[in-house]
Amino acid sequence: MPKNKQTAKTPDLPKVKKSELRSITGMRDILPQDQKYWQLLRDAAENMANIYGYGRLDTPILEPTDLFVRGVGKQTDIVEKEMFSFVDQGGDNLSLRPEATASVVRSYIEHGMLNKPQPVKFFYMGPMFRHEKPQAGRYRQLWQIGFESIGESNPAMDAQIILVAYNILKEAHLDSIIQVNSIGCSDCRKKYKDELVAYYKPQVKMLCNSCKTRINKNPLRLLDCKDDDCQQLKDEAPQIVDYLCDDCKNHFMKVVEYLDELDLPYVLNPWIVRGLDYYSKTIFEYWDSDDVEGKNALGGGGRYDGLVKLLGGREETHACGVALGMDRIVSKMREKEIEVKEIYQPQIFIAQLGESAKRKAMSLFEKMRQQGHYRLSQAFYKDSLRAQLDMANKTKADITLIIGQKEINDKTIIVRDMESGVQEIVNFDKIEDDLKKRLSRIEKEKSSKFFEAENDEKENKTIQGGQN
Ligand code: AMP
Repeated sequence: MPKNKQTAKTPDLPKVKKSELRSITGMRDILPQDQKYWQLLRDAAENMANIYGYGRLDTPILEPTDLFVRGVGKQTDIVEKEMFSFVDQGGDNLSLRPEATASVVRSYIEHGMLNKPQPVKFFYMGPMFRHEKPQAGRYRQLWQIGFESIGESNPAMDAQIILVAYNILKEAHLDSIIQVNSIGCSDCRKKYKDELVAYYKPQVKMLCNSCKTRINKNPLRLLDCKDDDCQQLKDEAPQIVDYLCDDCKNHFMKVVEYLDELDLPYVLNPWIVRGLDYYSKTIFEYWDSDDVEGKNALGGGGRYDGLVKLLGGREETHACGVALGMDRIVSKMREKEIEVKEIYQPQIFIAQLGESAKRKAMSLFEKMRQQGHYRLSQAFYKDSLRAQLDMANKTKADITLIIGQKEINDKTIIVRDMESGVQEIVNFDKIEDDLKKRLSRIEKEKSSKFFEAENDEKENKTIQGGQN
């Protein structure tokens, strides 16, 4: 430490305004206390991936810009307006990934996965970046969970992808309605686009400004514009189902039959088109049951049979996938006050008073941790017993073990039941037997309380049902 404070200053550093030290617009921190919601989603996704056989794939966050220009489509909103792109020191054009399907396909091609038994099934989780106008439910760094299956054309694959994402929403206690549509293959779509343009052209003046340009560039997007006038015009617009070829129609019917068989809540929605160019045949979105207009879809996906070839794959390769928006799912869970258990719920807090007790407590903690039978917590950096008991209360531990100088001398330990506040002195050598009995009694009490609460809730529902 320099003696003269003035010499310790760093005079070259420019003054930074407080406001400059904030996170970038549309990007945010996900704080420790919020992680339990995210962890629930991560666990649900991993669980589904294991059960249905999707292997985790982590692709880089930076990719060549060209991957998205070719994959997502030059005239999509994402590529036209929303990518964070730059030229790096080596002169390469790079972009922060706005979505992950194009990256997954690049990886599939790059690693020659065409030669593996098909389909190859992937899942991913991570941040995507889109320079969208920040508003509720729209971030510039958004988090997605995705499932992709490459190398399978069977409609049962579409149904499985739809099911897996639906199940994750269910695990998050959200009731979603699946919106399903088919946009056919490129042949059906061409005919349909011509019809759409013919329908909209005479009424172009009534369209919003964005749709006036969409009519030539990307007419399908006219259908999912949320502007009131555009919505009204859409009602009379031709519907894609009437333009599907036999193959696309049969494929779609099969998907729908599987959804029926799985008893999934879906509606056929001829107006969803999805904003990315690579889709073909089945497309779908998940809308929360409260979100009747689909303003904040929780996820979406579909088939993309042409993408592998488009990105340099040797052969026509069928594929389909889904992406769930983690930010929106978490905010829906919070809005609905869905209870989520803490990521780590300690059973035993170990407290100490005095220097030698602290050392004894530390080694006891390590010994018990290594045994792996208990969920433990501590605050050995605190000297005050009151502060430690406050911590034990905050963490909602069931039991606190207290060691002081007297306990060291007597070879005992104090066991405090945190609910009743009752303390007992237990022989240090007998502590493990004592804890086993106590914890099993506490677990039993908790589960009987849980069932009582569940029964009360059922009874309440029956009474309310009877009153209706
Ligand atoms: P997409 O990749 O556009 O098909 O989006 C899939 C899902 O990601 C959407 O249904 C949303 O739940 C979520 N999502 C897309 N864009 C954003 C955004 N800017 N902010 C938050 N979530 C988003």
